[in-house]
Amino acid sequence: MDLQEHLNENPRLSEWYLSFSAEAENLAKQGYHLVTGWPADEYNLSWDDYRNWCHDQLDNMEEGVDDAPYLPPYIAWRDERMPDGDEGFTWMCCELCGGKAGNRHAVSAVRHEPYDYIPYSVCGDCLQYIANGDLPEDM
Ligand SMILES: [Zn+2]
Repeated sequence: MDLQEHLNENPRLSEWYLSFSAEAENLAKQGYHLVTGWPADEYNLSWDDYRNWCHDQLDNMEEGVDDAPYLPPYIAWRDERMPDGDEGFTWMCCELCGGKAGNRHAVSAVRHEPYDYIPYSVCGDCLQYIANGDLPEDM
């Protein structure tokens, strides 16, 4: 079955898809595409944050007591601190489809030229569709 056949068959799925795709198409017109997760900047894990953290490690050295601290490579430092994108339960509506209270996940609308991103908190249905193109099954 193709997308249109699925939508014709299930009015609730169709309603979800209309809400989701209206927002997604609006973003696409402005040059954004949707990806799962938020960029490191959103969690204060940018390269500048890393640099400041390294400075702090050195500043915290006690004279005559401490040897130089271990400073991990940026990617390792960032990945160790990056949340998994699970935002937990909220009463707020899904920011893409308007879905009711439930668990929320981090998604970003990203534009490369010029670089910009918009963080979204979305429902599991929207997350699945963005991640794999899978339509919600339990509607
Ligand atoms: Zn949603």
